[in-house]
Amino acid sequence: MKVGFTLEKDEFEYDIRGLLMAFYPGADIIQDPKPEDAVDVLWNVPTCDLPARVDRKTWMKDVMYRRISEATGITLPWGTLTGIRPTKLAMAELLAGKSIAEAAEVMEKVHLVSPEKSLLSANIAAREQEILKNIDYTDGYSLYIGIPFCPTTCLYCSFTSYPMSRWEPRMGEYLDALEKEIDFTAERFGNKKLNTIYIGGGTPTSLPPALMERLLSRLEKTFSYQDLQEFTVEGGRPDSITPEKLAVLKNHPVTRISINPQTMNEDTLRRIGRRHTVQDIRDAYAMAREMGFDNINMDIILGLPEETPADVAHTLEEIRKLSPDSLTVHSLAVKRASRLKMEAEGTVVAGGTQEESEEMMRLSQEAAAAMGMEPYYLYRQKNMAGNLENTGYAREGKAGIYNILIMEEKQTIVALGAGTVTKGVFPPDRIERCENVKDIEQYLARIDEMIERKRKLFV
Ligand code: SF4
Repeated sequence: MKVGFTLEKDEFEYDIRGLLMAFYPGADIIQDPKPEDAVDVLWNVPTCDLPARVDRKTWMKDVMYRRISEATGITLPWGTLTGIRPTKLAMAELLAGKSIAEAAEVMEKVHLVSPEKSLLSANIAAREQEILKNIDYTDGYSLYIGIPFCPTTCLYCSFTSYPMSRWEPRMGEYLDALEKEIDFTAERFGNKKLNTIYIGGGTPTSLPPALMERLLSRLEKTFSYQDLQEFTVEGGRPDSITPEKLAVLKNHPVTRISINPQTMNEDTLRRIGRRHTVQDIRDAYAMAREMGFDNINMDIILGLPEETPADVAHTLEEIRKLSPDSLTVHSLAVKRASRLKMEAEGTVVAGGTQEESEEMMRLSQEAAAAMGMEPYYLYRQKNMAGNLENTGYAREGKAGIYNILIMEEKQTIVALGAGTVTKGVFPPDRIERCENVKDIEQYLARIDEMIERKRKLFV
């Protein structure tokens, strides 16, 4: 399907496009279409006067939303919101002194968010405030380290990931470069408090035990852990987890790990190219518990190819038997770079119907509640199945602090490694990013330039 739009005034093109994508998932959205584009629907966005009660962008999106919703009969759970951090809006209302109910009302009235999602956002924002209360926003910072290797490439992957078999002989070189960034960060942030560390990827446990030991020892020697409140290592793929690697993590102050099934259905695992079994997931989890890890997260994905709500219910039941400490539920977002998208020749194939997506989301909410977990962070992505969201659930005291920090953009996160993005948060309201190149060869060759970029950001 092709959807065209024209703007009377050249502004908010990105937001209008996002709204149209939400109403017409998978459609080609064309600005100022020509007759030969043969669009199926054409929307004109009029110039409008700024009403006093809201900003101009919110008003334009409100007008567009109401018109399209009336014409199509479709309502969107997130209303006019097209950004990835809806809880930030609820958080701003709470910080302005509003109650949870009042913050939810603003989401509903101003941004046309459904009552259910409005209350969810406000409740999550309140929980985030509570969890972050001991975090020093201005004098503290967090560290992200990217390990961009994986056993195989998942069909839906759009992250920085390279096959570990090819890169294993050169992983030491990768650590050499990382260590340069580590030393720079320790020197530049020596007078700040390091609050959280997150080692993600890729799959960090694709590092052999000796290199994992080298990395963790180097971090421990270089930084003060006096103010460290959380240290996460994402195990990710169960086929990369061994007793030796877990023993290395145990020898260092790692507080939280992830073992991510994505699904507990054998056929789907094969279909998405994971090349490990459901039993591998159970074994890796049992091994970690036996070794004393008391904060284990599991990630699942809703909307995987050919999965129905019954498959998701099965996955959730299997996860309930394992009883992790937190559960992160992703709705499949198919980005441009993923094989899934490319193999579908530009068509978003994941997700099933809107009703199925909503049913899967409801099942996961119920399963998390049955495991004694509460939602504690939430974010959205473009091209998300069913126009829904990703939600992190956790038991009391087991929430991932880093996850909230990155979503709420309250604290500087220094990111090291290929394809990572550093985010400098400068109060009261300046946020600036600086990227490391994705390609590992380039990262190794241009490591001094990557450090220079950070030096400029944090002058
Ligand atoms: S484990 Fe994650 S980073 Fe690695 S290939 Fe799969 S989706 Fe990509």
